[in-house]
Amino acid sequence: MGLVYRIVEEKGNHEFLILNKYTGENYEVRIDPDKIHLFEHLRDGHTAPEACPFLYLANGDEVASCTVHLSRPDVCREVFCCHLLIVDREGRRVGRVMGTRHLCPETPQLEELWENRVRTLHLSDDTIWVEKVVGILIDAGYTVRR
Ligand code: SF4
Repeated sequence: MGLVYRIVEEKGNHEFLILNKYTGENYEVRIDPDKIHLFEHLRDGHTAPEACPFLYLANGDEVASCTVHLSRPDVCREVFCCHLLIVDREGRRVGRVMGTRHLCPETPQLEELWENRVRTLHLSDDTIWVEKVVGILIDAGYTVRR
């Protein structure tokens, strides 16, 4: 999403004007009060290449947090900042993979599958890991949108 959002102006008081480089729309966002320390960490240069400037990642991308969650742009509210979107057979969203490997499950079934089949994978290469995980999810009847 760093390819999408660019900070245009720092307005002070942890408020920013950002530009969606695809639509040309500007948004005002503000760092969530409880995430200022995370954003300061980002400002120290701990940003992922091509990631949104407000996306905090840690623990090898196991932890992912939008530091402007409360004021995030409308497009983020609609599509979420996720790497993989997992939907069930009825087309309902059941989970998102944020950062590189962090699952936000929305059903106990997906959470169980993740614990039993995905957490046990020991693959260091992210590309190989993603392909393996997508295969596991598809085998279990899910659809994965990237
Ligand atoms: S949800 Fe937050 S971190 Fe993700 S792209 Fe939007 S503003 Fe950035």
